[in-house]
Order: sequence, then C-alpha cells, then structure tokens
Amino acid sequence: MSWNQNLEILSSNVWGKDAESSAALPEDAVALCAYELFVMAILDMDQIAYIRQTARGDELWMVTEETPYENPTRASADEIAKLEPLLLNQSKQAMRVLTMTHTDSILRSGMFLLSEYFDAVCGFYSPVKILAEGLLIKSDYEEINQRQNATIRRNQEVASKQRTKIIEVASELGLHPQPPLLNPEIWSAQCPSTGHQLYINARKDEFGCGYCCVKGNHEKLREFVESRKT
Ligand SMILES: [Zn+2]
Repeated sequence: MSWNQNLEILSSNVWGKDAESSAALPEDAVALCAYELFVMAILDMDQIAYIRQTARGDELWMVTEETPYENPTRASADEIAKLEPLLLNQSKQAMRVLTMTHTDSILRSGMFLLSEYFDAVCGFYSPVKILAEGLLIKSDYEEINQRQNATIRRNQEVASKQRTKIIEVASELGLHPQPPLLNPEIWSAQCPSTGHQLYINARKDEFGCGYCCVKGNHEKLREFVESRKT
C-alpha cells in the first residue's frame, strides 16, 4: 500500500501526556487488531488498537494491558485468538494517541494510523506478534511491521558506514552505541551508571540525555562519563 499525500497526522499523544485524551473507549470505536508489544526489551504488554472515524478526523485509540491476557491459545506461537474474548476482559480505559485527516476509507486510515504509531514509539515499544485480528488482519499487521523493519535496516546499513568521532568515543567509553532505527542520524547508547539510554546525533557530534539534562559534543561525553565514576 502506498501512502497518499493527503494522509496527515493532526495531533499526537503517544506517551499519554495529554490527560484529556485518556477516557473510556468511545462506543463507536472499531477494533483494528490486538498484538503483543515489547517495552524497552524488558517486559511485554498487550495492546488493542481501535479506530474511530469522526467528521473532524480519524482517531487511533489504544487499550493497553500490562498484564498479558489469560489466553489458553497463547502457548502455540502462530495461533491467532478471537478478538471478542479479549474485548470482554479489557479494562475499557483507553487513550486517544493519534488523530489524522478524515478519509472515507477506514482500512486505509487504520493502516496509516497504526503504522505512524509504531514509528512514533520505535526504540521504546516493539510490536511483536499479532494476538487477534479485527478490521486489520494478520497480513496487514505484517505489512506494517515489514515496512518499518526495512526502513530500520536501510538506516542501519547507511549508519554503519558513517561511524563518526562521537560514536567511536562512545564505544571506547563502553556505552555500546546502537545504530539508528527510524531517524538515520540518531544513535542510542547507554547513559553511564543508569538503566536508560542517551541519544547521539553522529553527524552533528552531539549527545544528549533528557533524564540527566545533559548534552554536548564528544569531549563533553568523555567528561560526563568521567563525572559518573566519582
Ligand atoms: Zn541519563
């Protein structure tokens, strides 16, 4: 599927900072599919994506369960569950994460919204397997994921040939820099003596950590690592 020019994200709240976006799931929302997500590669969550079409825009809603659904078919890796039992057990507390321009194709909007969502959370949440089909079926879900993986692979190939000074310094300091995902210039690396990641713009010779409120060039990175040792 090719994305048409008039598909455009109008508002985004993927990290749930906008409290007004959290509400009971609107009754006219239609389930797209349910799937499993890895969160920072340490725990997993189940999520059901919904689309809601209004005249003002098409909205993506998420119901997220940090405790995976009790699902007897879960053990068998390739089996897709029925969506209905998942819908019955869910909390119904939902969040509107994206809004796009309204289109007359709910399928096209659904594909675009879910794809944009996975791109926005890339590096933090990784979609794993589909748990249940809704409006989107397994092949739609796989198409979205394959498209993202192809972009990541392309970016990593380009990046591996452009290891700049700050990447070499980060390696030398033991921060294990990881090549970019969706933004071809942004590497991630371990923030020293913490459990989180910092970000490196390889081309601009710049690193930054939002948690530690620090940024600078490769020399500043050296000083930062040194300051964490004392
Ligand atoms: Zn940090």
